[in-house]
Amino acid sequence: MSVLQEYKCPSCGGSLEFNSKIQKMKCPYCDTEFEPEAFKELDEALSEEAVKDDSFSWTDTEKSDWTKEDGENIRAYVCNSCGGEIITDDTTAATSCPYCNNPVVMKEQLQGLLKPDFVIPFKLDKKQAMEAYKKHISGKKLLPAVFKEKNHIDEIKGIYVPFWLYDAAVQGSAQYKATNVRHWSDTNYNYTETRHYSVFRGGNMAFSKIPVDGSTKMADDLMESIEPFDFSEAVDFGTAYLSGYFADKYDVSMEDSIIRANERIKKSTVDALSSTVTGYTSVMPTGSNINMLSGSSKYALYPVWLLNTTFNGQKYTFAMNGQTGKFVGDLPMDKSKYMKYFGISTAIGTAAGFIATILFNLFFG
Ligand SMILES: [Zn+2]
Ligand SMILES: [Zn+2]
Repeated sequence: MSVLQEYKCPSCGGSLEFNSKIQKMKCPYCDTEFEPEAFKELDEALSEEAVKDDSFSWTDTEKSDWTKEDGENIRAYVCNSCGGEIITDDTTAATSCPYCNNPVVMKEQLQGLLKPDFVIPFKLDKKQAMEAYKKHISGKKLLPAVFKEKNHIDEIKGIYVPFWLYDAAVQGSAQYKATNVRHWSDTNYNYTETRHYSVFRGGNMAFSKIPVDGSTKMADDLMESIEPFDFSEAVDFGTAYLSGYFADKYDVSMEDSIIRANERIKKSTVDALSSTVTGYTSVMPTGSNINMLSGSSKYALYPVWLLNTTFNGQKYTFAMNGQTGKFVGDLPMDKSKYMKYFGISTAIGTAAGFIATILFNLFFG
């Protein structure tokens, strides 16, 4: 049996939870408040054996031999407050006791190499997530009326999702074929002049804290669609922030997440170079070359509200950024209504910008 961390109120013995409104630990019984830093000493043991090598290099041979273990791994804990058995899967790092509802944190899931470097504490609470959901469905004309009336949410959970954050410096270059076309006429002829250009762009870029979701439970596209998170509000990790929420440890390693980070870094570099090729009638990219100069990664927990609902036997998941309130998710569509609106774009935007601090030094070839 493994060890659980609880946060007891020194005044009344109640269970303290992190309160996102006041950004402090609060006792729900006697209303006493505590700074999360006051519980730092409880986390001291977490750093043991934490000799982390967080540097990585660019590998173009992308790893695909990663296999997931078969079967579900289950863990059992005993609640310190009521003695009840808490069963979780093997990635759960924080939850609440199903018998007495006490918030608990699984320290073994946050220790050594599993210790996060940073956490962005929740800023928005469950009530605000519900309000955002209602707002999200209120303006949707294609939503079946019955869905809105019932307005049922099966489950709502505040989850700290594990993210890998990549810093990288890259050197990139790209080539383009471009033309400028000019037309004019005199009394006898129409003229067309086409000038051909060979365009070269090159530069160095630095990326900061590019997030890649480190949990297989979370759909990558759903997580990317609630970005960006504001990293300037991240704090050094402490287990106290998790009290009252769910948390998962990563189950996709830093090495395996690099593939996705690389895709984002390459695409952003190429896009940034292309955005400077202006003033031509036509532009055709003919090649690019991106090299990583240096890279390092950090491990962080980011706050996400997840809402699940069922409609016509189908599950729908919504997610809200627990820091900024950005809300995304699928909605069922009323087919009869859809015919009326056919042709009107109803796509829910999932375009994801990510926090990339771009230091862009251009030199023209
Ligand atoms: Zn108390
Ligand atoms: Zn209990």
